[in-house]
Amino acid sequence: MQQRRPGFPARIAPAPPVKARPGAAPAAPYPSARLSVAMAPPAGLGLDSAAVRARMVQRLAAGGVTDPAVLAAMGAVERHRFVDSALVNQAYEDTSLPIGLGQTISKPSIVARMAQLLLGAETARTTGRLGRVLEIGTGCGYQAAVLACLAREVYSIERLRGLHEKARTHLRPLRLANVHLLFGDGMQGYARGAPYAAIVAAAGGTQLPEAWCEQLAPGGRLVAPMAGANGQQVLLVVDRTAQGLKQTVLEPVHFVPLKSGVA
Ligand code: SAH
Repeated sequence: MQQRRPGFPARIAPAPPVKARPGAAPAAPYPSARLSVAMAPPAGLGLDSAAVRARMVQRLAAGGVTDPAVLAAMGAVERHRFVDSALVNQAYEDTSLPIGLGQTISKPSIVARMAQLLLGAETARTTGRLGRVLEIGTGCGYQAAVLACLAREVYSIERLRGLHEKARTHLRPLRLANVHLLFGDGMQGYARGAPYAAIVAAAGGTQLPEAWCEQLAPGGRLVAPMAGANGQQVLLVVDRTAQGLKQTVLEPVHFVPLKSGVA
């Protein structure tokens, strides 16, 4: 079958700035907000993808995602471009989907939930913007693209070379100059980009790696799935406050396991 050529310039709409504390300096637009990207029309998605995505955003809002910047980012990033063509028609359902090598793309509601939690970090709230973010578990690159709309810089690390390459392929046409894809074991964090205003893990471990806490900036926040006391995975939030690390346990979640080493 003949490959269709890129047909229309798709624009990633500027995300509205994070709500700042009264008196804080106004947030400048993030680099991604200025990008326009020429992309091929959606293959296999019978409906207009913008309309389908807008409905997904409405459902996210109804489900408790209130931050306008997060909703704008979820509306801007075309999730169907991050999944295999056979799964394109499920791309805007609130479900995780296989991305190869036994891994999954997280469901939109959890991506939005975690992004909203990151924007709740003390520094992000007081300055009205999110600085450098470290993502552990790039997978297909979807969450990295969402974070790119919300943060100044995104460092995203993946331990499976096949997925690291796949994310590169997915993100290349988006030309997100503020996303840095890294191949390596994210359990070590990424010291060269530290300290981070936010750290987010897309894979669940049994213990919080020390490196993550060390690489978290004062006023920064870490959000990660973690095995709770009964072995059930829960979402854990760790804030670096002036008094030290403060942990908050949130709802049960289901993420793929955090593993050490690369493959
Ligand atoms: N955010 C991703 C979700 C991917 S699933 C997306 O939007 O698609 C979680 C990913 O974490 C998997 O690709 C898995 O290989 C990766 N992972 C697990 N342990 C890791 C580690 N120690 N370092 C880096 N990546 C890891």
